[in-house]
Amino acid sequence: MKCTECNNTLHKTIGEFSMSIDGKTIKVINAPILHCKNCDLVVVDDEIKNNAKEFAKIYLSDNILDYAECEAGTMIPIMNLLF
Ligand SMILES: [Zn+2]
Repeated sequence: MKCTECNNTLHKTIGEFSMSIDGKTIKVINAPILHCKNCDLVVVDDEIKNNAKEFAKIYLSDNILDYAECEAGTMIPIMNLLF
């Protein structure tokens, strides 16, 4: 995949991005992203965004979502804490 800004090759890496869910901006950390080393552009796959959205429904307790921990299932769902 090429960078939309400078046409450099994008590299798969682990990083963070911000997204908006129900009008609330959250920060997703430890997520697989595509990064351009040349101009610092970050591209996030729609699939990753969708996953993050689903994770946020279950795990999000503040404005930061740890994608890696959610995917590994090491987080305790909020539901378990409430009930
Ligand atoms: Zn670029």
